[in-house]
Amino acid sequence: MTTAQEQFDRDWLAFDNEHVWHPYSSVTAPITAYPVVSAQGVRIRLEDGRELIDGMASWWSAIHGYNHPLLNQALCDQLDAMAHVMFGGLTHKPAAQLAARLIDITPPPLQHVFFADSGSVAVEVAIKMAIQYWYAQGQTGRSKLLTIRSGYHGDTFAAMSVCDPVGGMHELFSGVLPKHLFVRAPQCRDDAEWSESELSEVRQILAHQAHEVAAVILEPIVQGAGGMRFYCPQYLRRIRELCDAHDVLLIADEIATGFGRTGKLFACEHAAITPDILCVGKALTGGYMTLAATLTTQRVAHGISDKDPGVFMHGPTFMANPLACAVANASIELLLSGPWQARVAAIAAGLEQGLAPCREFTHVRDVRVLGAIGVVELDHPVDMHWMPGEFVKRGVWVRPFRNLVYVMPPYVMSADDLATLTQAMVEVVGLVK
Ligand code: PMP
Repeated sequence: MTTAQEQFDRDWLAFDNEHVWHPYSSVTAPITAYPVVSAQGVRIRLEDGRELIDGMASWWSAIHGYNHPLLNQALCDQLDAMAHVMFGGLTHKPAAQLAARLIDITPPPLQHVFFADSGSVAVEVAIKMAIQYWYAQGQTGRSKLLTIRSGYHGDTFAAMSVCDPVGGMHELFSGVLPKHLFVRAPQCRDDAEWSESELSEVRQILAHQAHEVAAVILEPIVQGAGGMRFYCPQYLRRIRELCDAHDVLLIADEIATGFGRTGKLFACEHAAITPDILCVGKALTGGYMTLAATLTTQRVAHGISDKDPGVFMHGPTFMANPLACAVANASIELLLSGPWQARVAAIAAGLEQGLAPCREFTHVRDVRVLGAIGVVELDHPVDMHWMPGEFVKRGVWVRPFRNLVYVMPPYVMSADDLATLTQAMVEVVGLVK
């Protein structure tokens, strides 16, 4: 009998392949992961010395690229002071500083910040806030969420319950998930094409069931992992108005869109709306560590706190981890002190130009770009055992899902690297039968 350590010592990658569960993977038919030894700027370095230009920014998070000296310094400074301390009964300046920054840069009047450990948990917290708010108001029947199809909000149970119920990854759990209310995803990509009929299902549900609905939850402007869809600001504006008219809370999940990705600091700004509850994560720490936050208005926070049970019932062990807060503070400072709008606009232009040849392929259904997000939608799912390897051969890192080959690079990517990335996308998409 060999021990796990012996297996690891003999061939650590084979050990990883057999014993370590990677995201959305099988242990019996694993797709071998590429071993990474370091990352610098927009490049990921593999164990065999190859370097890959990163089109994924580590799932939307590494907006400044990797190994940034200012972010490293912020972490080292905080590490010298303390790595962690519990947040119950104790507090620290990095957390308060981060709350101040978030309040100042998110759409007003979000005033209260709950730090969570991941995006999914931030969504759980948002849902809990909405339900507890109505409970505190004596409206205990308001436990349903209204959401749009093709959404993605995370992999924990409450988050799963508002992901797309059919196309999403969680269909098999449908029997045990709470049943929420789903409407057709918005179809208009442009305000110029806006049609009020987009709202007919929402109107009908709110007209008859608003007393059961705690909140509308959605990803503003860009639906990410549920389908990489973009929709028009007018839809969001009208949803805000309908929520107000029916006294229903609005939760905006900006975990993927926050911190400039769509060309605005927060996607809600495209529609000039403020949600009652806002979730941020991913790029919050510049991709360094896991941290998310749920922000809310005074109305919701006081509504929860002023009535029985008088406290908000959540408190994870690693809440407001000081290292994560310190690097988040440095990341926001770095973002706001640099020309992020110009960088995102340049990436948008580079993606438009570089991906345009994909429009000529008959198996490509759509090519779309918004901010630093470029999407090539095929007419059938890609072969995940084949496609990532083709990208690696071309020196880039792109990880498609379903029928979507997409990138959202670090904002600091040069025009040349972006051209290499889009050229590889055109070539690899062109090879698809
Ligand atoms: N909401 C959205 C919009 C997301 O894109 C994601 C992550 N892809 C999540 C929530 C969940 O975040 P996490 O993976 O950090 O739990």
